[in-house]
Amino acid sequence: MIEELNAQIRSCTLCRLHQNRKHAVPGEGRVPSDIMFIGEAPGYHEDVQGRPFVGPAGSFLEELLASIGMRRQQVFITNIVKCRPPANRDPQPDEIEACSDYLDAQIALIKPRIVCTLGRYAMASVIDPRLSISRSHGIAHRRSGILYVPLVHPAAALHKESWRSTIEQDFMKLNEMLARELRGEPQPGEQPAPVPPKPEPKRPSQLSFDGQ
Ligand code: URA
Repeated sequence: MIEELNAQIRSCTLCRLHQNRKHAVPGEGRVPSDIMFIGEAPGYHEDVQGRPFVGPAGSFLEELLASIGMRRQQVFITNIVKCRPPANRDPQPDEIEACSDYLDAQIALIKPRIVCTLGRYAMASVIDPRLSISRSHGIAHRRSGILYVPLVHPAAALHKESWRSTIEQDFMKLNEMLARELRGEPQPGEQPAPVPPKPEPKRPSQLSFDGQ
């Protein structure tokens, strides 16, 4: 169950990021949910509150959701790494890898029809490391029946006017994509997402959720 998974994330010590955290940030929202958003990592506000996207980027994400008639309680929001990197530095590959089973378990529980990645790091680790955000934003990629859609990070869009309109338009597209998914129709221009190579198994004693 999600509560059990959240408890494991809150007490996780699999990578160095646990050492400086105030709170781990498992994520929150509806379970199951049609749409799931995956950002990069908690920042200052998220670390203090233990909740995802509660700072300025979160307010903008809420505005974007409102533009398609949704509230954050109707979707699930999380990050590829669940603890704040020091001084908001980029998450390192071993940290992303250490957290990846948690994300897989969340996707299994939430059963989203559409997974939106927010920013380059989430796109690279969840969809395909070869994609470029400027060329691939808003394009649907399908893997195992789920539609993966890379979006510009709302924090980046807050600081660059052209990206703000890009993400606003992509949210309109997202609304149409969801309507098509719910009708069981194909998405125009959708591409296959590669199946990521399965990394080495981690220490099993620390990761024992059963996907319930
Ligand atoms: N940026 C992210 O990527 N995630 C958060 O939770 C907040 C800001």
